[in-house]
Amino acid sequence: MNNSKIYDVIVVGAGPAGSNTAISYKNLNPELNIAIFDKSQFPRDKSCGDAIGPGVINALKRFGNEHILDGEPEVVSTTLFGPKNIGIQNYIPEVQNKEDSVVYVIPRVDLDNRIFDLAKSLGVDSYEEYRYMGFQRTDDEKIEVNFKNSNGEDETFITNLLVGADGANSRVRKDLDLNQNTDWHKAIAIRAYIDSPNYLEIFKERSLMFEINVSALRGYAWAFPSKDTLINIGIGMPLSLFKKENKNINEMLDDFVKTLESRGVIVENIRMEKSYMLPFASSRPRLAHDMVALVGDAGSMINPMSGEGIFYGMESGFLLAENTHNLLDSTKDKINEGIQNYEKSFNKRFSKHYLSCALARLVLQSPFMTQRLLAVASIDQHTIDFVVELLFDEARLTVKEVILLASKFMTPLWLLKSIKTSI
Ligand SMILES: Cc1cc2nc3c(=O)[nH]c(=O)nc-3n(C[C@H](O)[C@H](O)[C@H](O)COP(=O)(O)OP(=O)(O)OC[C@H]3O[C@@H](n4cnc5c(N)ncnc54)[C@H](O)[C@@H]3O)c2cc1C
Repeated sequence: MNNSKIYDVIVVGAGPAGSNTAISYKNLNPELNIAIFDKSQFPRDKSCGDAIGPGVINALKRFGNEHILDGEPEVVSTTLFGPKNIGIQNYIPEVQNKEDSVVYVIPRVDLDNRIFDLAKSLGVDSYEEYRYMGFQRTDDEKIEVNFKNSNGEDETFITNLLVGADGANSRVRKDLDLNQNTDWHKAIAIRAYIDSPNYLEIFKERSLMFEINVSALRGYAWAFPSKDTLINIGIGMPLSLFKKENKNINEMLDDFVKTLESRGVIVENIRMEKSYMLPFASSRPRLAHDMVALVGDAGSMINPMSGEGIFYGMESGFLLAENTHNLLDSTKDKINEGIQNYEKSFNKRFSKHYLSCALARLVLQSPFMTQRLLAVASIDQHTIDFVVELLFDEARLTVKEVILLASKFMTPLWLLKSIKTSI
């Protein structure tokens, strides 16, 4: 044990949550010794819709790192389709708390590598092809972390704080004896890439297309334009229902491709199909433990309405660093106090937002309610702005908002239309 390398913080997982944890520690306190380990060799692919919104842009700007988005084309609108083919196009609204109302669609194989490179450039020690195997607490109040390297050899490192950023199937989380989310609080989704020479023509501009409760029962399908003719497509639904209905995720994707084609979209060269789980934030485990913290998907932080997870993962890494960076050379109790404060600040910032999104998920899981919501939204800008804000921002439902939305839901559409035109 005495020969093992010692770090202030060891991060397991170099996805956006892990890399931004390391970036945040180094920016807040450059003296810290931080190491990040990943079982993969980067650049590595990750099943994802690849959409990043104002939250991620803001998280990058915090430490002057937005340049990694230079040259990426901006997505300027969303197009929502619901049952009975109701479709609405809307600009990405001015979001609260953030300066940029812009979305980018960058394949994760590139995006994650760029964020990981930022961490490396700050002097974070990086270990690729190192698989986390387990940890023990030592008598001198440290943590011994075990890895298997690419040669199959066991290696041990010592730290004051272990961060589990190892994604939806987190092994660090399992070693804390925490359960996985139940199937109701999880979705399964599949992603593929296609080339489409006419996508921008069909949608008139670079628009994120969501199709709610149509090809995916109680879920949604998407088509997100990236660079040139590259489009990320996919479909997801709650895991509980997926199992109950004995669905086949590849067949669901095939059906969605047919729907896209029926809308006139040319679909060529379907490739890189990959499915994965999304642990929703409607059921979060404890994030703070004795000298161990969870960030990102390892801590179930995905928005239960939109499936967005990159922003929350990056922000959790920052909040952890903010609450602990100046405590790492003090006692274990002080470090643990910082970890607890991290969990409190994360919950303070996001609990109400997550609750609002969980409620919105219930509404959008009903084909009737989706149809009604989109019908109201198609004549009421405030409603559509609110739906899109829930997708991309930290919006939360207030009592006033609920009453307003409920009254619009119950008002006949002809009356709502005439009220709108008379004001
Ligand atoms: C189909 C799909 C579509 C999605 N679409 C979007 C979207 O458009 N926008 C969005 O914001 N979010 C989206 N999400 C959610 C998003 O992908 C996740 O929330 C995000 O990747 C979480 O980041 P993370 O860093 O916590 O975990 P990950 O990105 O999963 O990174 C975890 C890292 O840990 C490593 N690791 C795992 N186990 C070990 C181990 N034992 N030892 C060492 N390393 C290990 C992995 O190799 C990986 O690099 C989508 C998810 C899915 C499945």
